[in-house]
Order: sequence, then C-alpha cells, then structure tokens
Amino acid sequence: METPFFEVTHYINGEFVNSPLQFEKLYPATNQVIGTVAEGKQAEVDRAVSAAKNAFKTWGKMSASERRPILRAFAEGIRKNAAELARIETFDVGRAIRENNIHYIKRIANNIEYFADFAALHGSESYPMDSGYINYVLRQPVGVAVLITPWNIPMLLSTWKIGPALAFGNTAILKPAESTPIGAWKLAQIAHEAGVPAGVFNVVQGFGPNSAGAYLTSHPDVRLISFTGETSTGQAILKAAAGTNMARVSFELGGKGPNIIFDDADIERALAISQKAAFVNQGEVCLAGSRILVQRGIYNEFVERFAAKLTNETVIGDPLDPATTMGALNSREHLERVMGYLEVGGYEGKLLIGGDQPDLPAPFNEGNFLNPTIITDVVPSCRVCQEEIFGPVVTILPFDEEDEAIQIANDVKYGLSAVVQTGNTGRAIRVSNQIDAGTVWVNDWFVRDLRVPFGGMKASGVGREGGHYSMEFYTEMKNVCIANQ
Ligand code: NAD
Repeated sequence: METPFFEVTHYINGEFVNSPLQFEKLYPATNQVIGTVAEGKQAEVDRAVSAAKNAFKTWGKMSASERRPILRAFAEGIRKNAAELARIETFDVGRAIRENNIHYIKRIANNIEYFADFAALHGSESYPMDSGYINYVLRQPVGVAVLITPWNIPMLLSTWKIGPALAFGNTAILKPAESTPIGAWKLAQIAHEAGVPAGVFNVVQGFGPNSAGAYLTSHPDVRLISFTGETSTGQAILKAAAGTNMARVSFELGGKGPNIIFDDADIERALAISQKAAFVNQGEVCLAGSRILVQRGIYNEFVERFAAKLTNETVIGDPLDPATTMGALNSREHLERVMGYLEVGGYEGKLLIGGDQPDLPAPFNEGNFLNPTIITDVVPSCRVCQEEIFGPVVTILPFDEEDEAIQIANDVKYGLSAVVQTGNTGRAIRVSNQIDAGTVWVNDWFVRDLRVPFGGMKASGVGREGGHYSMEFYTEMKNVCIANQ
C-alpha cells in the first residue's frame, strides 16, 4: 500500500514553520510512521499568541460583512479539496473513508460558512427607557481564542470552533490532538490560500501537559478557550485558566449516551439506528449510544438480531477501501485501554460477540482494529456501564417500565446526549424531558442543525455552542446607554 509522507508544521502569522522538536505521526490502520510533526513549546505558543493579538487589531475592527467573503472563500476551499481532506481524515483518525463522504466534508465547510453568514446577518438589540434614555447592546469580539480539539472527529470539531471564533471577529490558535495533526495543517493551507490574513488563524501542533496545550491555556493574553476532549482534561484547563488568564471557557466533554428502545418502536429501524449510534467512527464518538436499554418484551429478539446484524454487516480492514465499514481505533494505547475494559466486562457480564481483534493481512495485522463488541448481563452500576469506553463496544440491558429506563439512563456522571426510540409521541416527550442530556434524539441519532444549542450537562460540559449560543460565547456584550439630551 502506497501511503504519502507528511511533514506537518505549525502555521503561525501566515507562515508554515517547523520546530527544533518533532514527533512521529503513525497511521492507525498499520502503525507505520506516515509523517513528522513539529512540536510547539513555549516559544511557538508565544509567537502564535503575539501574532493573533496583533492581527486582532484589524480583524476585530472589520465588520462581519467584510469578514464574510474571506470566510466563505475558506469554506469553498474546503469543498474544492474534499477528496484530499477525506483521505487525510482517514490517515489522521483511522476511520473508514466511506464515512468521510461528501456529506461529511460539506458539514466541515458549512461550519465556516454558516457562522460567516450568521455574524453578518445578525443585528443588535436596543432598549428604550420610559425616561427617554436609549440603551443599545453591542456585540464585540473577545480577543485571542484558543481552540483545542480531540482526535476522534478532528476536522468537524475544529471548524465548529474556527467558524464562529473568526466570524465574530476573534483571532484564533488551533491546537489539534497530537495524533491527528495533518487535517489542521491542511485546513491552514486552505485558509491561507483563501486569503485569511496573517495571524488571524494559527495552528500550533503539540501535546497537552508541558507542551503546546498547557502553554496556550495558561498564556496571559488568551481571552477565550473552547475545548473538546476528556472531562479530566477540561478540569486541568479550567485550573490553568483560573490561575492565569481567567479566559472564558466552553467545554464539550465526555459522554456515556443511553439509547432507550421501547417495545412499541419500529424494531428494524431501531436496529439500524443503534448500529449507527454505537459503531460509526469505531464508536469513538462522544455522542455514541453506547448503553442500549431495551424494554423486556423485545429484549431477546433485539439482542439476537443486533448481534447477527453486526456480525454480518461489519467489514473491518483497510480504511481506504470503500467496501470497509469500520476502520481502526486511533492509537495502540487507546486500543489497549478499550480492551482493558473488556477484561473487566468479561468478569461482570457476558461478552456476547467481539472483544478480539480481526484476523487481517499485512500491513493491517499491525493496526488498531477491534471487532464490534456486545456485552450483556451486566448491572447498570458496573464500570463498563458507567465509564466512557470510546470504542466499538456496547452494553445491552433490559428494563420493564419507563421510570426504570429513565433512572438507569440518568445514573451516570455524564449528560451529553441520548436516543429514545418509540412509536408513541407522548412517551417520546415524557421520557426526553426527564433525561439528563444536552441533546435527545427521538428515533434517530446525530442529526445536527447548527442553530440549536450543543453541549452537555453534568460532567459532559460547560456552556453551549451553536447559532446564537455561539454568539454569546464568542462575543463580548456591551451596553451603551445614551441620555436623551
Ligand atoms: P483529550 O482530553 O485527551 O485531548 C483533547 C485535546 O486536549 C488534545 O488536543 C490534547 O493534546 C489536549 N490536552 C490534553 N491535556 C491538556 C492540557 N493539560 N492542557 C491543554 N490541552 C490539553 O481527549 P481525546 O482523547 O483527544 O478525545 C476523546 C475525548 O473527547 C472523549 O472523552 C470524548 O467524549 C471527548 N469528545 C467530546 C465531544 C463533545 O462534543 N462533547 C466531542 C468529541 C470528543
């Protein structure tokens, strides 16, 4: 198999620059080295922040409608590079390329374009007082924004931050996860070609602790941090920011989503949605419906048919082969972590299918593949039902009544998303209203509208982004009160 070799750099102040320190980029499907990556330390972070601070002086003063065509050109560049971006995302993540289809790349471009339009089309509020005074409310950019993203859906998640950050007039520094650096570097090339001015958008590559991530989040000139990743990393960032820059934060963190299937649901559809919700992107999705709860009347039939469906329909292997339905986990370390849970699962319940690696030809026999895995006969309090496994692993539990399903669904530390599958609208509303989750999907999963608030309750996040909720976060509000004489 021919794989390209990437020499991945930072993008600071409009220039692609290297570092004295570099690390290797591995392809998750083979664990072969497919690139070198510059590692940002304090010096690179200082340069990027200073470039962003300087660029803010002009970008922040431009009107949203002046920024709009530049950002639209950025979005158009993403669309033009769709085929290359799809391959890059597979090299970065390990995901099957058929999932990086044109719809996925369109969503990446839309993240930029939607906010470019939103910011330009949004007006301001005014509040006339009885005394004749007039208040108006300005929304002004905040300043230098640090955007930190995880490795599971890197381009979608980074543009979800880059779009609103830049559209509302901030300048930004993106720090992608260390195992998925290529996409961020490619996005920087596209932004550069689209004419995004130097310093407005920067990328600093590197790790978290004692590296680019930690230096960025504690830099005194940073005014805003939007972070997606693990809950424990969010806690570390909150501490760093509290002790240094007091930057405002928005956190999208871990999840352990329930997928509740009532016996009045369309079972064919429920099987398809459950497969998608748990196994898209090898289950490495914060929104994954990784805890399937099935009403007792259809439990046995569901479990049997779900296991057969996964066994018959999953094609694991070369992620660049369009026939492959499931790719590799992102790193050997992560695969080992996921498999570590299965040893525990074996003790606490029944490993119905999976738990092992597929038998693949070289070079994929060295990759981080794991067969789709179902665990049954577990109690809701056990580790595999409580902790985010972040792999192709589901637990399936029976329940009898609505209240019991809600109680099990809510009895975890997370509250990001949930799926409710039922043919009864009243039940859909009753149950959805009681679940601790930032998003509930009824009879589907991962349907996104950029206008709605996105984020999590409990340990799944702080704040919401999307539409005007993003505007709240990415702008400073200023009230101007004018006397009537
Ligand atoms: P992670 O928290 O390990 O890393 C995320 C990013 O933070 C990386 O860029 C990393 O380098 C950086 N980082 C790590 N330590 C840091 C520190 N001390 N200071 C600053 N930056 C630091 O997460 P991950 O393993 O890359 O991603 C998986 C996690 O992300 C899962 O928990 C998943 O649920 C979560 N996630 C959440 C959402 C959501 O929208 N809620 C979406 C996708 C992923």
